[in-house]
Amino acid sequence: MALVSLANVTKSYPSPDRKGPPLVAVDDVSLDIEAGEVTGIIGYSGAGKSTLVRLVNALEPATSGSIRIDGREITGLAERELRDIRLGIGMIFQQFNLFDAKTVRANVAYPLKVAGWSKAAIAERVDELLDFVGLADKARSHPDQLSGGQKQRVGIARALATRPAILLADEATSALDPETTHEVLTLLKRVNEEHGVTMIVITHEMDVIQSIATRVAVMDGGRVIEHGPVFDVFSDP
Ligand code: ADP
Ligand code: ADP
Repeated sequence: MALVSLANVTKSYPSPDRKGPPLVAVDDVSLDIEAGEVTGIIGYSGAGKSTLVRLVNALEPATSGSIRIDGREITGLAERELRDIRLGIGMIFQQFNLFDAKTVRANVAYPLKVAGWSKAAIAERVDELLDFVGLADKARSHPDQLSGGQKQRVGIARALATRPAILLADEATSALDPETTHEVLTLLKRVNEEHGVTMIVITHEMDVIQSIATRVAVMDGGRVIEHGPVFDVFSDP
């Protein structure tokens, strides 16, 4: 059974002037993602990649279709149940989305606080995570004292804090230079290989797909127009 399974998922938004036809951001997408895979989602700006990922993270409801995570249908769940689902999914972003007023330690601790962990358990987990991402010496720093790559490593530590089975990355290396991109991708590869975290990686950079993804879905106009092993998709005539 696929870990993430989308069947005929459509998401439309009202037309901006409320008169025209709705804008279909995701159009009848069916996509299965197996546990342990790194699936790259590639496509031009406006293709529907971010919307698709927001649907998987239950940040917005689909207009129609079915989304199952680990066998559980998420469309139609109440907000409290959706919160449980979201605890099993980590997310990292292009602009890192860190709390600038909080220390690195407090940023990483945040999801654990929300999840109701004890102070002692949080302290131990945060130390472990900061070691893992190589930022133990930055625990008391604030995000504005860090480089882009360091900020994204804080983002990764925060996203993994509750030990999610799934990590979603939305253009997570797009704001980074090539060397730092490589460093962050190497870390993500370790998260996948050593911890079996299933990943969905949105990017417009072919290099990122080539270096980290096992499978790739190509989106265009809200549709997934191709999906398969990276080698097959990119070796098409
Ligand atoms: P991508 O991530 O591939 O650049 P998006 O998923 O951001 O694409 O957007 C797909 C389409 O849906 C675009 O036309 C975008 O303008 C539209 N869209 C995305 N989010 C919203 C929203 N909240 N309200 C209205 N339209 C949206
Ligand atoms: P092991 O599976 O070898 O016991 P741990 O689960 O103790 O390893 O984690 C080893 C390191 O990897 C820890 O520092 C932990 O913070 C980090 N780590 C990164 N991602 C995850 C994850 N999704 N689940 C658990 N640990 C993770």
